[in-house]
Amino acid sequence: MTGVWYAPGRINLIGEHTDYNGGLVLPFALGSGVTVSAARRDDRLLVLRSAQLPGVVTVPLDELSPGRITGWAAYPAGVAGVLRAAGYPIAGATLSIDSDLPRGAGLSSSAALECATALALTRLYGLRVPRTELARYAQQAEHEYAGTPCGIMDQAASLLCTEGHALLMDCASGATEQVPLDLAGHVLLLVDTRSPHVLSDGGYARRRGECEEAARLLGVSALSEVTEVPAALPDPVLRRRTDHVVTENDRVRRAIEFLRAGDAAGLGRVLTASHRSLRDLYEVSWPAADVTVDTALDAGALGGRMIGGGFGGSVLLLATLDRADDVAGSVSGAYAARGLATPVITRVSPGPGAYRRS
Ligand code: ADP
Ligand code: MG
Repeated sequence: MTGVWYAPGRINLIGEHTDYNGGLVLPFALGSGVTVSAARRDDRLLVLRSAQLPGVVTVPLDELSPGRITGWAAYPAGVAGVLRAAGYPIAGATLSIDSDLPRGAGLSSSAALECATALALTRLYGLRVPRTELARYAQQAEHEYAGTPCGIMDQAASLLCTEGHALLMDCASGATEQVPLDLAGHVLLLVDTRSPHVLSDGGYARRRGECEEAARLLGVSALSEVTEVPAALPDPVLRRRTDHVVTENDRVRRAIEFLRAGDAAGLGRVLTASHRSLRDLYEVSWPAADVTVDTALDAGALGGRMIGGGFGGSVLLLATLDRADDVAGSVSGAYAARGLATPVITRVSPGPGAYRRS
């Protein structure tokens, strides 16, 4: 038994820093992802190759446990380990991985790798595991084997998104809904600001801690349970963080209304409002991101915002088809004028979720 399975990376259209606060997110699948060519084997070995990285990693399945595998192989091996621990009889496979997603760029190559692997391993063995469950196993693999305490958004997006749609997800209940993302006459531009994330700085972990503290003071289990910033929160920093979470959830709802009404200008405005909130209230933006959004708006973009955890990474811009080249050119020019590294600007659109390729 052999086959080829594909799973995409994702971009979150709006709903930033809401996931771990039990709020709303609205990711869509990219047209790029990870492909796993898989063959069944019954010798209790997992044999792993990646076209992007040297070497072959052979993992004896009976000795597989969290912490035993390091490096990139922890992702696919982790999926096998988690599925086996859940009782699925996976007795071995050869997995050849290939990808057209940049690694570590915030487009969730790790979830794409996990999800393509999860589909490959279950389908090789004829196991019909629902995609919502596969997403949870993939997330569990990332927690236990790769040591990253991520939310469920990336795996859910990779497995549940459909072409031409974004996926509304309530991170408290796990409920999802397909929202048409019709870009006719418009373009989404992804700007890699070439400012890498400064993870060692601990800013992301600090924001999570602040939200937990605010929720504790307010007596709620997650910050998204409040609908306005309560007076009971005197600390100005915690008030700003709460204000962002509350207004960001509201912006996700408004973005959906604009999408349903075909109002691209309205969507652009909430994207920009999200950026300003991330800059001023959540304080996770970085200089090149602010330059990108401000320059793009001056050049006639409908809106834009930083995406991802912050402190570096990418910006998403929305422009009409006829303004898109001008916007991209203006952003590149602004970087050059400030001596910033040349940004990498690509067009993105909502592609299909994971599927069997052959
Ligand atoms: P992101 O998910 O944003 O791309 P992560 O740091 O979460 O960034 O995941 C990147 C890691 O996923 C890589 O360091 C590597 O271990 C693994 N990975 C992603 N794509 C591949 C690939 N094509 N081959 C092997 N490993 C990959
Ligand atoms: Mg990742």
